[in-house]
Amino acid sequence: MTVPVRVVFLGPPGAGKGTQAKQLAEHFEVPHVASGDLFRKHQVENTELGQLAKRYMERGELVPDGVTISMVLERLQEPDAANGYILDGFPRTLEQARALDKALAEHQRSIDRTPLLQVDTEELVRRLAGRWLCSKCQRPYHEVTAPPKEKGICDVCGGELMQRADDQPDVVRKRLQTYEEQTAPLVGYYKEQGKLRTVNGDQAIEDVGRDLISAMME
Ligand code: AMP
Repeated sequence: MTVPVRVVFLGPPGAGKGTQAKQLAEHFEVPHVASGDLFRKHQVENTELGQLAKRYMERGELVPDGVTISMVLERLQEPDAANGYILDGFPRTLEQARALDKALAEHQRSIDRTPLLQVDTEELVRRLAGRWLCSKCQRPYHEVTAPPKEKGICDVCGGELMQRADDQPDVVRKRLQTYEEQTAPLVGYYKEQGKLRTVNGDQAIEDVGRDLISAMME
């Protein structure tokens, strides 16, 4: 299915945005653009931006708006994003949301839909604490709810699984607090624009996926 689809995925850390955003991107045949993945790539490549971002990420704080906005808007200029994209983890502040809207408006474009994945805080902490990621393809796993077939190895690409440094309990609490303070106001921002669609993220992965696709069509 190829339709112009520009989506901002909202939801707290651990709500399942990454998994669902990836599936939605495949469904609509548009790229999945995750700002956290872009920062992690910069860290692996040890760029100046990667070194700067690391200092904030380790503490569960947001990387400053200026560099974050330039990094993501640059990514959205690439040819594969011409028909749309699923944004995951960006925008995370009102300033980022306004900058995105402004950049789109310059090309007579706008965000189409903003799904919000809702999950209880206790469940978020539980999910983040047991989370493992493939170091090669970023596929997520969970010790209890979605373990790999072979311990420590990615089912899909055979890469080594790792835990994110910022999934440690004290950093998780800080990330949730950062979300409440700086990102939750975006819910009101997109609601006012009539783009917000709330989906219950506390269900089986396939059920969340089904609800999301219908929410996108509403
Ligand atoms: P994520 O993978 O989306 O959980 O992001 C991991 C970390 O990267 C966050 O805790 C922030 O430190 C940083 N980060 C990712 N996206 C943004 C953003 N849009 N604005 C500021 N910081 C971000």
